[in-house]
Amino acid sequence: MEIQLGPASGLIDGSADWDECVIASLTEWNNHLGQTGIQFNAVQGATKTPDAPDDINSVFFSNGIFGTPFDHSALAATQTWIYTRDGVDETAETDIIFNDAKPFNCYRGARAGRDTIDLRRVALHEFGHAVGLGHPDQDTPPQQVTAIMNAYVSDIDALQTDDIQGALTLYGVTVTGIPFPPRDEVLNFLLSLENEYRDGLGRSRNHASFVDTEGTATWFPEWLRYVLNDCSPAEATARVLLQISGQGTQPVCGVVPTGTIHFPPRNESLDFLHTLNAFYRDTLGLRLWQSHVDLEGKAVWLQEYLRYRVNGCNDTDASHRVLQQIHGSGAMPVCSVSASATMTGTWVGDFPFSSGDAIIEVTLSQMPDGQVTGTFSLSGENLETGVVGPEGEPGSIDPDGAFDLRFKRARFADFHYRGSIAQSGQQLRGTLYDPRFWPQNPSMVLNKR
Ligand SMILES: [Zn+2]
Repeated sequence: MEIQLGPASGLIDGSADWDECVIASLTEWNNHLGQTGIQFNAVQGATKTPDAPDDINSVFFSNGIFGTPFDHSALAATQTWIYTRDGVDETAETDIIFNDAKPFNCYRGARAGRDTIDLRRVALHEFGHAVGLGHPDQDTPPQQVTAIMNAYVSDIDALQTDDIQGALTLYGVTVTGIPFPPRDEVLNFLLSLENEYRDGLGRSRNHASFVDTEGTATWFPEWLRYVLNDCSPAEATARVLLQISGQGTQPVCGVVPTGTIHFPPRNESLDFLHTLNAFYRDTLGLRLWQSHVDLEGKAVWLQEYLRYRVNGCNDTDASHRVLQQIHGSGAMPVCSVSASATMTGTWVGDFPFSSGDAIIEVTLSQMPDGQVTGTFSLSGENLETGVVGPEGEPGSIDPDGAFDLRFKRARFADFHYRGSIAQSGQQLRGTLYDPRFWPQNPSMVLNKR
């Protein structure tokens, strides 16, 4: 991209000129396009006047689109030239033209008003068109998503999950997050659950439901997939109901770090099945049918089946484990080490190290029995006598995420810190603190690497 936007002064975010403001948007896209193999390259200092088409991707201000005046409300336009070669469409050139009649500035956060339009977020949007994205809110049917790619500029100043997943999808990167089993296998499991309740447990067929087995097999895993991919239960329910209404598969709410598959409490699963039942009754007007399995049984055992599936069990192994549980064996081990995560943090402040001198590395693994275990180690230039862990080095982390860190430095007494790692939503967060001052004053914040 040849960026030819020229000088600017007094930009709110401190950008030196328009080029710098817009290159920040290119960089933001590049940070999310790694898996696609495409990257934008910003070229500055070009002096040739952009033309249509001239085999150069140009980004510039103008009063129109190569001679056609801008519509008075338009902030910018992206013009793409596509040629068909050997029956395949190829993009030959993309030019991005900003309307020079608009009062642009460069800033973050909420819109500052009609007279101060943020060029950076407009550029994020236009580069999204260059990637190949359209306006989700003007799709047929319109999608209701939070996105920089929606048609009108808003308080959104950064790429959203929908923007990123849209781009990844265009370039063939799988963005479904945690893989779920095929629907026919889930349906088979539910049918065997019906049989088990009838023959094994001797339950009568007296649980009325508007949702048939196929509906449960389709929509419960879909709901759980959204929840495991960072949606709140309410957001997940809203997405499933949109899907049932024919709005297509909705984007998930976030990208899940490996090693943190976190199933919702069962009462939330049951709440979803109640909502689904009411939707089938009131909106779809389906007739009542009878099941041997009550709604709670479906919520509990289907979730267990799916938990085994996403933890490496095949259909046979997962079904077998659930049936064992129904017969009172308790939860069974999952089938594989599902994930691990490494976290690092750098010391805050200057005691006992000068800032940044010591690095702690924490490694967490989910073991075959479902337990999360971990180890930690500490390294640093000023760490003259090394770590004195409570049980040698590296130290181990308790199942509740707590650990003790003791170490020695020449000329000082022993240091004792307490660490804790907890799951917050789908993210792992850790802190390290001096027990005398307690966790409000962390000495180190651990972030997933
Ligand atoms: Zn647009």
